[in-house]
Amino acid sequence: NTQVIFRGYVSGFPNESDLYLANSRISLKVPEGSKAVVVKNLYLSCDPYMRLRMSYDANYFEPFRPGSVMTGNGVAKVMDSGHPSFSKGDLVWGITRWEEYTLVTATESLFKIPDTDVPLSYYIGILGVPGLTAYVGFYELCTPKKGEYVYVSSASGAVGQLVGQFAKLLGCYVVGSAGTKEKVDLLKNKFGFDEAFNYKEEQDLATCLKRYFPEGIDIYFENVGGAMLDAVLPNMRVHGRIAACGMISQYNLDKPEGIYNLMNVISKQIKMQGFITPSYFHLYPKFMETILPHIKEGKVAYVEDIAEGLQNAPSALIRLFSGHNVGKQVIQVAME
Ligand code: NDP
Repeated sequence: NTQVIFRGYVSGFPNESDLYLANSRISLKVPEGSKAVVVKNLYLSCDPYMRLRMSYDANYFEPFRPGSVMTGNGVAKVMDSGHPSFSKGDLVWGITRWEEYTLVTATESLFKIPDTDVPLSYYIGILGVPGLTAYVGFYELCTPKKGEYVYVSSASGAVGQLVGQFAKLLGCYVVGSAGTKEKVDLLKNKFGFDEAFNYKEEQDLATCLKRYFPEGIDIYFENVGGAMLDAVLPNMRVHGRIAACGMISQYNLDKPEGIYNLMNVISKQIKMQGFITPSYFHLYPKFMETILPHIKEGKVAYVEDIAEGLQNAPSALIRLFSGHNVGKQVIQVAME
């Protein structure tokens, strides 16, 4: 059973060598009397929050344990089950480990895949936590209205690409930023953003945002933090809303960057709300009712970046922090 192991706590930018491959033996049968399931992992999700778990002080997460197998969301097939809710051959998504086969004891974190007419990997992307994150952050927290001005950072990523498309479906004006020309082209040509720009080519982000939003921003979907957030704040409109989803620019820093324009939250009467998607899992059925028809009718597109094989798992994870991933970063462990 090939496994991906977390070597030890990281400070600064993570490296591939912070993870390593190992082998172990695993029985493909559930132990007698146990309510666990044994799954064959098919797809694994690479997520920015994993960097936080690689630190000793993992912020609001539990740190990974040095020397232990990486854990995260995945799509898998049940090989054997001691649990009445799961049978051999079921396709599931939820918390699993970065290895070929996993004995899952925490079966409350596994969900049966309800619809297989879509790519299975979608259950760790547009139909999984990133999709629900876009839905919760945009619809529930930002109370968006038709015609409003929406800005999305890290807009071509797993979450951002969907936020922009939700905003377009509602009739908003949407601008996204990303770090390469290829991503900017995707935003405009594939996801239908009204405008997009490469933030790495801008000298002054606040001036740049003023150019795209001469009348100001109603809704900012925050994926990046730091200097980007600081540039957004003076460009917000009165009664603007900010969904504080993530701040990837801060995850590799020992000390977070200063924010200087926070007074705008008061003067513009901005509502800024942080959120953690697992607190909103009760909305998953409502989200699925919205998103599945959109996917099947071709109203939303989803771009994935699929690395093949567990041997490529360390580089796939690290790519998130250098911006080399284009779309949702997935590891394909085995064929369906
Ligand atoms: P992405 O696919 O967007 O993340 C990777 C991208 O982030 C990279 O390709 C890169 O894109 C960008 N990036 C990396 N480093 C930096 C940097 N220093 N400054 C600016 N951009 C950078 O990931 P997700 O869509 O999965 O997640 C988006 C955000 O949402 C993250 O902050 C994540 O932590 C958060 N999140 C929060 C959840 C919650 O429950 N609150 C749940 C899920 C995600 P580029 O080339 O454009 O720079």
